[in-house]
Amino acid sequence: MKILDIDNQHTWHPYNSLPSKSTILPVKSTDKQTIFLEDGTELVDAMSSWWSAIHGYNHPTLIKALETQANIMPHVMFGGLTHEPATSLCEKIAKLTNLPSVFLADSGSVSVEVALKTAILYNKAKGKNVSKFIALENAYHGDTLGCMGVCDPQNSMHSLYGDYLPQNIFTSVENLGETIEKYKDEIAGVILEPIVQGAGGMKVHSPEYLKIARELCTKYDIPLIVDEIATGFGHTGLMWGCDHANITPDIMCMGKGLTGGMMSMAAMATSKNISDTISNSDIGVIMHGPTFMGNALACSVANASLDLLVNSNWKEKVNSIESIFSKEFESLKDLEIVADVRNIGAIGVVELKDASHAQTVQDFCVENGVWIRPFGKLVYSIVSYNITDIELHKITSTIKEAIKSL
Ligand SMILES: *Cc1c(COP(=O)(O)O)cnc(C)c1O
Repeated sequence: MKILDIDNQHTWHPYNSLPSKSTILPVKSTDKQTIFLEDGTELVDAMSSWWSAIHGYNHPTLIKALETQANIMPHVMFGGLTHEPATSLCEKIAKLTNLPSVFLADSGSVSVEVALKTAILYNKAKGKNVSKFIALENAYHGDTLGCMGVCDPQNSMHSLYGDYLPQNIFTSVENLGETIEKYKDEIAGVILEPIVQGAGGMKVHSPEYLKIARELCTKYDIPLIVDEIATGFGHTGLMWGCDHANITPDIMCMGKGLTGGMMSMAAMATSKNISDTISNSDIGVIMHGPTFMGNALACSVANASLDLLVNSNWKEKVNSIESIFSKEFESLKDLEIVADVRNIGAIGVVELKDASHAQTVQDFCVENGVWIRPFGKLVYSIVSYNITDIELHKITSTIKEAIKSL
């Protein structure tokens, strides 16, 4: 096929070689929960395009928001200019997070970079010259160099970049409190994913570590950065992972679901204390400003997506998805090849004992009409909240068959 020939010659894919060593499927179009391939195959989507398509594909409300904004003003620089789609989005994010100071970024990784820089500046503004962070084992915070510096050093790509990465302090969820106590005078912040650690291992935690982190960070005036890029916008059954512990961080990053998966946009929100302390100090400003900051098309789609979400019965939907994942995956626990089965909200995970089956599981699912992309030992699904029970059962039964057939 022509697309694949060109792809093999010119196109990098995520975490891949050129040409790709694994199967690449040409997609023709999408609709709701379905991905239509060029060859006519229809796949039910079990990935929601890496946690982002929370309303399914081609939602008419999002398309209309995009079309309307495209005719008014697609983009202007955000340096010295502002506009209603951006201010409206910042206001919505402030309300949803209880964090009033919002920085619009163009990807999740950039929002994490800005969060790390903000924490360093906050400390500097208070006369503290610190730049190390406490992060968690199994953490994933993005692929840029600063972000990689707070990703798990063992299971990420750290070793490939060696000295170029910032050196930080890693600890387990269990030892987080102890570690904060030990390094409290040397760190610029604590960064963590709440309740679910995503790409670093799809781990589900109980909320206690969030309460401990909040308590100690408040006690020692250390910025607590919570990365809600994966967990946010309802994925764990509550709006934010933080809501499971009833805490508010000092700095929150969000992305992925923000535009319902249609546009590249993320955001960092901070407390007024953080923004006031930086703004009123000699430093005075956050030294960061992407060219496409506050992109009006992305802001309009994000506004439409957030309105759709808050005005829908997403909680009921996500609860119902959670109970279907629990019930359907339960029986896999007894299989010899399965190490663990866990799920929360719209996320279902089967951890295999062996990392060699990812491609086999993917091929089986695609042959049987389901799009899934396992990594390593992890076969996981994250679904859109408006998925039908029939579609969800198709996903769970196909994954079960795939694993049973190994
Ligand atoms: C995906 C992800 C990121 C990075 O976001 P990008 O938009 O891919 O740059 C950061 N943190 C977490 C928790 C993520 O899941």
